[in-house]
Amino acid sequence: MKLTLDPGAAALLDTLHAAGYAAYAVGGCVRDSLLGRTAHDWDLCTSALPQQVMELFGTEQCIPTGLQHGTVTIKYGGQLYETTTFRTEGSYTDGRHPDAVQFVPDVREDLARRDFTINAMAYNAAEGLVDPFGGQKDLQNGLLRAVGEPQQRFTEDALRILRLYRFAARFGFALDAATARAARQLAPHLDCISAERIQEELAKLLAAPQPGAYLEPAVLAVVLPELTPAALEAAKPVLDACPAGEENLPVRWAALLGALGEADTRRVLKRLRCSNACIEETAVLVRETAGEGVCGSFLLGHESGHSIARPTACGSRVPPQRTVLGETPAHAPERASDIHLRQLLGRYGLRTVERLCALCAALHPQNAPDCALAAQRARQLEADGVCCRVSQLAVNGRDLMAAGIPAGPALRRVLETLLDGVIRAEYPNEKPALLAAAQKMIAS
Ligand code: ATP
Ligand code: MG
Repeated sequence: MKLTLDPGAAALLDTLHAAGYAAYAVGGCVRDSLLGRTAHDWDLCTSALPQQVMELFGTEQCIPTGLQHGTVTIKYGGQLYETTTFRTEGSYTDGRHPDAVQFVPDVREDLARRDFTINAMAYNAAEGLVDPFGGQKDLQNGLLRAVGEPQQRFTEDALRILRLYRFAARFGFALDAATARAARQLAPHLDCISAERIQEELAKLLAAPQPGAYLEPAVLAVVLPELTPAALEAAKPVLDACPAGEENLPVRWAALLGALGEADTRRVLKRLRCSNACIEETAVLVRETAGEGVCGSFLLGHESGHSIARPTACGSRVPPQRTVLGETPAHAPERASDIHLRQLLGRYGLRTVERLCALCAALHPQNAPDCALAAQRARQLEADGVCCRVSQLAVNGRDLMAAGIPAGPALRRVLETLLDGVIRAEYPNEKPALLAAAQKMIAS
């Protein structure tokens, strides 16, 4: 068994070996290499004590990340390598942290404290794969299995229950029956885990390609008690149809929590200590897709050239085309969907509009082609620099003041009304037309 080591990791292992210590790449990087995936970080483990690691590599090259747990981070070639002394963990009294760790000379003892067989393998070039719990076989069979007795392992650290579903979801693996049984049974113990840790694990689970099947009701009942079992079941296929990856987390959160409405979605995400950016983005997605919302209006997407004097499915009536100046505009009539898309682009920006389209497609699969068209159209509008924001108007506040409109909040309202008129194609985005429209507004 030969794996290609990251060059930095290989160099650090060589240095440790040359100094007489045992040392291996361990955990996620070994698992990912065996899966043929790119490992994102290379963790090392060694018989050297933290102090010995610091002496060997020098204090400038080392960050004392968690000396009492045996972890030193080594800087090498612009990368960071977490290097942990072989250790066992003592008893757990809080269901989360070992009361004490003990450094040990044998890598196998270190592997025995790890959570799942696929995470409990070590590798170096001289010895090859060290795999005492059959991790490689479980990887081949696509199976998540606890190292040792699952009941005991989940009782020691309840976070492992969430990690189980997270790793299984990431790789699309099945769960070993005894491991799954213990996880379901001990799920109530998740109540001793901090909100931050729960959120981190849930986020990783939600970012998986198809997380639906891995959202175990017994687990969700503890970590998201706000969500009814029926709402969870309804959300699963929607989640699976949403785009995956960390960058799409707000879409996934909105798909999971949408049934709660905007206010409760915010409350839940705040309780879980999500970032404000994530909360705001998710709230927008939930709000705009509530009821028929945005999703309905996207359906008007490809009916190009129709009269704009028709109600959108959102219920807002688009006024018939007219010109302030009483002239026929030289520019083309706007499509109702363009009006709504431009308003959304102005309010939220392209990234959010794309996410809205993705969520709508997941919520209403029969409309997915229209949603894809809407996203494409939004990208086109943005690329063409079509006016969607006050800052893109051919006049600014100074122009309006020069034309005699007083400064103050009224000025902002005039600009916003002008933008609305431009988006609705009531007049072109040209200075004379906008100034005339502004004068008319002030006069009326
Ligand atoms: P990822 O790619 O998500 O980082 P990873 O396998 O590196 O996956 P980490 O959470 O970074 O996962 O943990 C590194 C390793 O430490 C794991 O592979 C596992 O061997 C061990 N480990 C981490 N957390 C636990 C835990 N709660 N209980 C037991 N072992 C754990
Ligand atoms: Mg890791």
